[in-house]
Amino acid sequence: MLWPMATAEELAHLIADARTVVAFTGAGISTESGIPDFRGPQGIWTKIDPNEFTIDNYVRNPDHRRRVWKMRIERSTQTYEPNAAHRALVDLERMGILSCVITQNIDGLHQQAGSGRVLELHGSWRTVKCLSCERVEPAEIAYERVAAGEEDPHCLACGGLLKSGTVSFGESLPEDVVEEAFMRAESCDLLLAVGSSLVVYPAAGIPIAAVRAGARLAIVNAEPTPLDDIASLTVRGAAGTVLFDTVGDVLRLRGERT
Ligand code: NAD
Repeated sequence: MLWPMATAEELAHLIADARTVVAFTGAGISTESGIPDFRGPQGIWTKIDPNEFTIDNYVRNPDHRRRVWKMRIERSTQTYEPNAAHRALVDLERMGILSCVITQNIDGLHQQAGSGRVLELHGSWRTVKCLSCERVEPAEIAYERVAAGEEDPHCLACGGLLKSGTVSFGESLPEDVVEEAFMRAESCDLLLAVGSSLVVYPAAGIPIAAVRAGARLAIVNAEPTPLDDIASLTVRGAAGTVLFDTVGDVLRLRGERT
């Protein structure tokens, strides 16, 4: 059944009726923490050119790498805190309703909020990896080197190029993470998509796979998405407010049923 512009309470009913819920999140869940998304009205792509952020350009263009490290250093001085939407997903996990969070985000805010099982499809900005020997280390180590004057740090073990632990355009997604994400999505009975434009593939294939496997899809997003038509329910609004209210309603419904 399609309920256009549903309410938090209607979403709560769907959640309370589900056996296993899997969350699928995007940049929109973190905008209320102060991190801009890509495609929203204030998104990053309104200010910088996405075509620059390819793995090819990173490997070939030392000027681009120097610029990227400078941007990362600037961002690393800012701290971000999880918001009500991240915390609501933790609450649902602790109630035994939510089995995992599949995220396109690279900010680590789900883990910071206390989510136990987080599948990061696009990696994490909290790590740095060597493109040659694949060694992964905490980003702070590279940031300290850049702050000390190395504009384009290379791997201390093998001399290879160092890059943020995030997946750039043209890079493959981590196979084991993607495999588990599809498996979890295909075995849940409700997939809750929050703060994603649902246009980035292969990630956006995950909610579609869930629906094909028989799950319901609920979408919480500020703007329409191309998957609204296959959703059982779409709530248009700010993720923090909607999910905070939803958790309150789920608690009330569970109380009424026991
Ligand atoms: P996107 O930018 O394509 O879409 C974000 C969606 O969230 C938009 O439709 C926007 O309307 C909606 N939105 C914004 N604020 C919202 C709010 N408070 N409540 C509800 N909805 C809100 O992001 P995406 O779908 O995640 O895909 C793009 C890529 O963005 C991913 O690959 C991800 O790696 C990357 N990204 C991540 C971060 C992060 O980690 N925080 C930030 C920027 C981009």
